[in-house]
Amino acid sequence: MKNTENRILRWDKKKHTKYGAENKGKWITDNNPYININPESFDRYTEIDPPNPNTKMALDPKKMRKFLRDKETPKLGRTFIQYIPGLFTGSMLEKTQKIKNNKVKTKKYETLKEKQKLKEEILEELRANELIGGFTLIDRRYINEEKEYIFPYDTFLIIGMEMTKDTIMEIPQPTTDSGKIFDFDVYHNGGLIVDKLADFIRRKGVKCFSHIPLKWDINFAPHAINAGIGNYSTHGLVLTKEWGTRLRFFAISIDLDIPIDKPKDYNFEEFCKKCRMCYKACPTNAIPKEAYDYRGAVKRRVSIKRCGVGMSENKFCGVCLKVCPFNNFGYEKCMDTLPEYYKYNLMDNETGSYDKYEEAGD
Ligand code: SF4
Ligand code: SF4
Repeated sequence: MKNTENRILRWDKKKHTKYGAENKGKWITDNNPYININPESFDRYTEIDPPNPNTKMALDPKKMRKFLRDKETPKLGRTFIQYIPGLFTGSMLEKTQKIKNNKVKTKKYETLKEKQKLKEEILEELRANELIGGFTLIDRRYINEEKEYIFPYDTFLIIGMEMTKDTIMEIPQPTTDSGKIFDFDVYHNGGLIVDKLADFIRRKGVKCFSHIPLKWDINFAPHAINAGIGNYSTHGLVLTKEWGTRLRFFAISIDLDIPIDKPKDYNFEEFCKKCRMCYKACPTNAIPKEAYDYRGAVKRRVSIKRCGVGMSENKFCGVCLKVCPFNNFGYEKCMDTLPEYYKYNLMDNETGSYDKYEEAGD
């Protein structure tokens, strides 16, 4: 009898259902206090919705026509052209990576010390490229069930890349001074860098697969939280101590059981509870007031449809990014506005010290 323990039942055109790969990252999410799920319903689905990019659903055609008639749009179009190489590289990754992996001279990393050393080298490479990152295991409930074949390995390196503050502050008129479109700029740069990082890992003798956000194959937020990079924000993105929500995530799945990172509490929710600026400022009410259960994921889930209207109407919108105090003033200044008793999450119960806060703000 087929071992179904820890495997997800997937939709299959011929047989209606089939079992996917073992879900090694499930225990991390299930035990992560910063992710709220209802396990009974959550185990039955993938949370990727829709499974494939659907521009009709994500953008509003009527508003888009108005957007295209806007006198600023040709400038946006000209800016967009410079991003084609990065977007193209990113979208071609699936095709080229199998070929690259077949050429890898596999090296054995047997001891924990060897694996730890490789991990440090990879993180150092990330820092050299002004990126942040952490390691976790893939939770297959958060990947596109139709694309499981591009996730042959279980270890996930989650990579964060900054969207620069000047580009965010231009919202709602992207390109005004910077000549950049805030999110496409990061998709372009990330598409190029993630490919180079994957090559770096292959040169270390380890097969891997890089992944970009525009393809909608991964729900990056819970993986980033599992990897200890940040916590959920009010508008469903991940807040990080480095750049608030001013970042986009990329990932590399790796054919090696590198030591993984632990989820961390950065006390963001205590601040968000008193702020809710993104919720109040969203022009299309896409951010719900309270968390709710959607396919077993309990969180404030932004309405894709309403957000699509906002993006079509307001030139990719991003108002929720612009108003966030973490994106404007940084982690430490925001946390310093909280009375001490709201930092209980960061306090060591035995010593009463805030070392965890200092550590999170390093
Ligand atoms: S705007 Fe306020 S409530 Fe929204 S994510 Fe930022 S800090 Fe949290
Ligand atoms: S991008 Fe705009 S419409 Fe979408 S959630 Fe943010 S503020 Fe709302």
